[in-house]
Amino acid sequence: MEDHNEETEDKDEELLDPAKKKSFIEIVVPVLTLMTIVNCVVILVLVMNIGRKVNGLEQRMILLQDNAAASVAAVQDSELPETSEALEVSDIDGNIVDASEAADIVEAAALEDTHKWAGRDDSSAGIRRVYLTFDDGPSSNTERILDILDQYGVKATFFVVGKEGYADQYRRIVDDGHTLAMHSYSHKYSEIYASLDAYREDLAKLHDFLYELTGEDCNIVRFPGGSSNTISRVDMWELINDLNRQNMIYFDWNVSSGDATGSRISADQIAKNVLDSIGQFNNAVVLFHDAAGKDSTVDALPAIIEKILESDNTVLLPIVEDTVRVQHLHE
Ligand SMILES: [Zn+2]
Repeated sequence: MEDHNEETEDKDEELLDPAKKKSFIEIVVPVLTLMTIVNCVVILVLVMNIGRKVNGLEQRMILLQDNAAASVAAVQDSELPETSEALEVSDIDGNIVDASEAADIVEAAALEDTHKWAGRDDSSAGIRRVYLTFDDGPSSNTERILDILDQYGVKATFFVVGKEGYADQYRRIVDDGHTLAMHSYSHKYSEIYASLDAYREDLAKLHDFLYELTGEDCNIVRFPGGSSNTISRVDMWELINDLNRQNMIYFDWNVSSGDATGSRISADQIAKNVLDSIGQFNNAVVLFHDAAGKDSTVDALPAIIEKILESDNTVLLPIVEDTVRVQHLHE
């Protein structure tokens, strides 16, 4: 019996062994499989995250490029190159500027498009006065702007810069009865806002240049970037006080057409920006830009002028000395 028992136990052990092996395999295989699956999932998640991050970065790059491209002044509409040249910024003459001036141009353009005016002294005798103003000209668009104004018999204000080769345009602005006003000769932020003397010199140069060409003794001024600009290295009050001493009057704006930051804004959007905002003011000074590439500004003018002319108790006027002072900085 004992023998049999031993035999049985042996057999049992023999029988047990494969069972043990089986259970070992039964445990290890699923564990290994599970670990493999977990690893795969982890790797998949990592890959997806990296993909997403790369995608996000690409989109941010595209956004950055778009923003930079939109800030390029005086560049033809659809002809922006896809390369790093899209990041280059041109000045009002279409010349590519250095990084510091480029940053100033982009900053000023953003300010010009977004400034909100507090509305001091916005008095009116029941009549809304609208002043169309054009900065940075003359340009290849000046004649078209003048033709449209002429067509509607409307007078406007041109805050011009100093440019060779545009004598006819400066003269026509005056001959057509518009206000020839001063913006800056060079319009180079880093130069004009380096010191009071630099600003005075630039403005005197523009004044004399315009006097030579047209015989006009201009005394109405708009600071590049507005009096509220954040670019000037000189306290803007120093410049304002100096203008006051010279009996010059500066004007900012309270309605922006939104055409400063790029040439891609549509004519419809420009017209909407202007017409939606004019109603907030009794004296609405509207900021446009007369610059190469800003064709949608010109295209928007007929609709804007027609709508204003249709409005009751509303007049379109050029800025003159006794126009209500629309100024961003005031005491
Ligand atoms: Zn300007």
